[in-house]
Amino acid sequence: MAKKIINEDINDEIREVLIEEGAEDIYKCYQCGKCTSICPWFQVDMYNFPVYRFSLETSMGMVASSEDKDELAAEIDKIYRCVGCDACVTQCPHGIDTPSILRAARRLLVDFGSYPETLKSTAQKIKNVGNPLGEPAEKRADWAIDLNVPKFQEGMDHLYFPCCLPAYDSRIQNVAKATAKILQQYDISFGILGEKERCCGEAIRKVGAEKVFTEVCKTNIKEFSGSGVKNVLVSSPHCFTTFKNEYPEFGADFETLHITQFLSKLIDEGTIKPSKEFNKKVVYHDPCTLGRKNGVYEEPRNCLKCIPGLELLEVEEFNRNLSVCCGAGSGGLWMEWEKNERIADVRLKQLIDTGADIIAVACPYCLQMFEETLKSMNLEIQVLDVTEILYESL
Ligand code: SF4
Ligand code: SF4
Repeated sequence: MAKKIINEDINDEIREVLIEEGAEDIYKCYQCGKCTSICPWFQVDMYNFPVYRFSLETSMGMVASSEDKDELAAEIDKIYRCVGCDACVTQCPHGIDTPSILRAARRLLVDFGSYPETLKSTAQKIKNVGNPLGEPAEKRADWAIDLNVPKFQEGMDHLYFPCCLPAYDSRIQNVAKATAKILQQYDISFGILGEKERCCGEAIRKVGAEKVFTEVCKTNIKEFSGSGVKNVLVSSPHCFTTFKNEYPEFGADFETLHITQFLSKLIDEGTIKPSKEFNKKVVYHDPCTLGRKNGVYEEPRNCLKCIPGLELLEVEEFNRNLSVCCGAGSGGLWMEWEKNERIADVRLKQLIDTGADIIAVACPYCLQMFEETLKSMNLEIQVLDVTEILYESL
């Protein structure tokens, strides 16, 4: 096929749709390339991911617009590589929101049904049963049975919302259990929604399935306000950011704290005083959604620093706002990457190189991504949630 000249490539209609769907930053870009060099894909040797091209291509209506089957498949692959880590946003001299440009393209692809099968299945499960694992709602509170965690009732101080992975995944349930045990130990008034709890919808919105997101968001808001929920504690930064920053535009009227913010406050007040020694070297991995997106850097560290015997390590340079994504954001958790094309490998190497015995996380997605990736790397380093370590030390 003859190469088309660039003017013929300009597709006004596609560009206008993409702008309507949230790609309004495209004309601010002056192609400096800073976004590309900070993107985690740049650190994955084998993949060339020129982030700086997206604004330009969107302004020409070329993103997600090809009618050629192979070209479109390559385009879909590129658009679904973005893990929404926001590293590019923080480095861009104009604050251009590249993940939103890509999300606009995703919305277009979802409308046409042209997106990865694994993400279609995830969206379907959330729509049908309220969680991405396809598990029945009746089992949502099974993790809490032995702990006698009560159902939330009006008048309780907090709703604890563990997120889908801590609710259902047999390994990650331990995070919900550790959290509940800490709250019980300090007589915090809290309950759970049990089988009425459903996915917050954050990841599926980032995938581009806006209609599924809107449905779960409205159902959750109705359930929360109907139950008299005023304060929510969450284990996942993904629930945190979507409840705090995205639900209000749909009428939500409740406060949300990440569990490390809540526990850090109790530590500062002197209520929580860990007494058991935890003689390990621990490196803390900043989850993008908690750190870079919401500025919560010190509270998880505070929950670890107060533990006697624990030596807290940092990844050199790539910590706090320069932390590298685990690869699970924006649907990445459900995507399959070739072994030499995984962001998690890059991040794990940085964490392991610190000489730590344990990687501490504050996000169920990071926990699952790191544990799964470590299995295929045959490396032995433990990954634990901050709440699991804190509970051990009480
Ligand atoms: S850093 Fe910003 S201005 Fe520079 S190429 Fe990337 S999006 Fe464009
Ligand atoms: S959000 Fe992260 S993965 Fe996506 S383009 Fe920006 S730096 Fe790359």
